[in-house]
Amino acid sequence: MERMADGLTELAGQLPVIKELQQEKEVVWINPDRTDYEKSMEGSELTMADVEDAEARLWRFAPFIMRCFPETKERNGLIESALTPISRMQAHLNRKYGSDLKGRLLLKQDSHLAIAGSVKARGGIYEVLKHTEDLALRHGLLHKEEDYAKLAEPEAGDFFRQYTVQVGSTGNLGMSIGIMSAAVGYRVIVHMSADAKQWKKDLLRAHGVTVLEYQFDYSGAVEQGRKQSEQDPKSYFVDDESSRTLFLGYAVAAKRLAAQLQALKIPVDWEHPLFVYIPCGVGGAPGGISFGLKQIYQDHVHCFFAEPTQAPCMALGMITGLHHQISVQEIGLTGQTHADGLAVGRPSGFVGSVMKPMLSGEFTVRDAKLYEYMRDLLETEEIFLEPSACAAFQGPVCFGRSEELKAYVKENGLEGRMEQAAHIVWATGGSLVPEEVREEYRRTYLD
Ligand SMILES: *Cc1c(COP(=O)(O)O)cnc(C)c1O
Repeated sequence: MERMADGLTELAGQLPVIKELQQEKEVVWINPDRTDYEKSMEGSELTMADVEDAEARLWRFAPFIMRCFPETKERNGLIESALTPISRMQAHLNRKYGSDLKGRLLLKQDSHLAIAGSVKARGGIYEVLKHTEDLALRHGLLHKEEDYAKLAEPEAGDFFRQYTVQVGSTGNLGMSIGIMSAAVGYRVIVHMSADAKQWKKDLLRAHGVTVLEYQFDYSGAVEQGRKQSEQDPKSYFVDDESSRTLFLGYAVAAKRLAAQLQALKIPVDWEHPLFVYIPCGVGGAPGGISFGLKQIYQDHVHCFFAEPTQAPCMALGMITGLHHQISVQEIGLTGQTHADGLAVGRPSGFVGSVMKPMLSGEFTVRDAKLYEYMRDLLETEEIFLEPSACAAFQGPVCFGRSEELKAYVKENGLEGRMEQAAHIVWATGGSLVPEEVREEYRRTYLD
């Protein structure tokens, strides 16, 4: 800690942006280590084949998902969300914040994904299903060619009841893992960090999930879960800090998005750049989605993450190059934020290293703004998002206001093509928030 702090003072001296993070300023940081796509994939442990494999697995499970969750029938057992143009919001943001966002603004509504009501319905549910398939194949419960709806029969449930699934969470990951694991039949233990909202714990307990509450932050809850799971050979731990499986579940989003863009006749190519803004906690969700998008659109997609000013862990890890070896607490931040889904002090080292040559940049945003953006979207488009999910609007709002962003557009030769650009704000959660909590959020004004 001492040694790290010394090194840090040195780093902060060299990098004014670290000083700004320390002062809780909103920053726009452009990643100097981004390379072209070809180069970024050199030596990559994951490829498009892994994303295709994950997508195929989700198809195999579709009949099972439909059986357990009838609300997924209209999408044939796929858990997918709408991509919605939000032009009224775009005009409103430009006016209210003095921004200058050209092109088209769209919202990817993972806030409304079936079963878990957040982006975690991608990675979390996928990892539970992958583990389930592994167990079922190993124990002869199933052949790959069979109808996976078989796993919804009572005998299968009896088999899975001998196994436990555990996870550390700030709330939403616990909900996605908890609800799906309970549906398969597993015993489930969710290790909740101090930031988790009461209604998320209540909802999980109603599903028969054991919720253990800690005063630790996210990393602490993960550590507890990992330790407890290691003591039980029949327990499986979903490791949000380093899971390749979770990451690939998120990456499948890119293939689904490509089909939606095509259906909306929105091209992505040299003439038509795509900008994507995703809220970031430990990094798995935004990292996986961005990795998938890079496989498809390569240098035509520009991926940005958004984090709260009190918990900019991925930005700090990337800027310093220290990744998971540094926490926001080490530069004097609390890690505490109203954005419970993003309340993470230490980023995933795995995601940091994958994203280092791919990420375009990062935005940090003050908590007060999250509630503003939330109300802006409600008023203009009648769509409700939880505060964490609203962090991504910071990206579009910075156009016309940020010198860093202006320089990025110029240096990438995009100046003449911004009118043809598409901008996607990734809405990561909100549809399960109870009405009384929504009402409280609507009335929250911070300095
Ligand atoms: C978890 C979460 C994120 C970020 O995902 P990470 O994998 O932690 O980076 C963003 N928004 C919401 C609402 C979340 O729950």
